[in-house]
Amino acid sequence: MATVEERFWSKVIKGPRPGDCWFWLGAISDDGYGRFTLNRDGRTRAVRPHRYAYYLATGVLLDEMPSLMHDCDEPTCVHASADSASHLVPGSHRENMLDRIKKMRHSNGSGLRYWGVGRDAQADRSRRLRDELLANGWNDERIAAIRFAHDPDAPTLF
Ligand SMILES: [Zn+2]
Repeated sequence: MATVEERFWSKVIKGPRPGDCWFWLGAISDDGYGRFTLNRDGRTRAVRPHRYAYYLATGVLLDEMPSLMHDCDEPTCVHASADSASHLVPGSHRENMLDRIKKMRHSNGSGLRYWGVGRDAQADRSRRLRDELLANGWNDERIAAIRFAHDPDAPTLF
């Protein structure tokens, strides 16, 4: 039987380059973040996959973990490590909010699109990204098309 850790990584696809995102392919909540279910002592607990990944990378327990910021602006990314390569960095709730505002003001594109959309659109975007990765694996062009909010099946203008 697979361990919890094996079950977790079976739901993740890692980009081919060291700096790429690692996208969650499991359940996605209505806020656009992933959902991973832990079963322990006959009880189930739903956790955010990026927080579980951070626990695996650093050993910081979920109940003692500060809120985490996505440097990559991808809510379903679980690329956590204990060094500077991590896409997930600890921050207070206040820092998270300031970070969002800064990204909206200074964004040259993707951040503005992402943070500028509502909760339903965020969830829809996360699910389309996941479904694309499940259907076709990692394909830079198709992933970029979703990240930059275009339909990869739509005809191109050029
Ligand atoms: Zn990432």
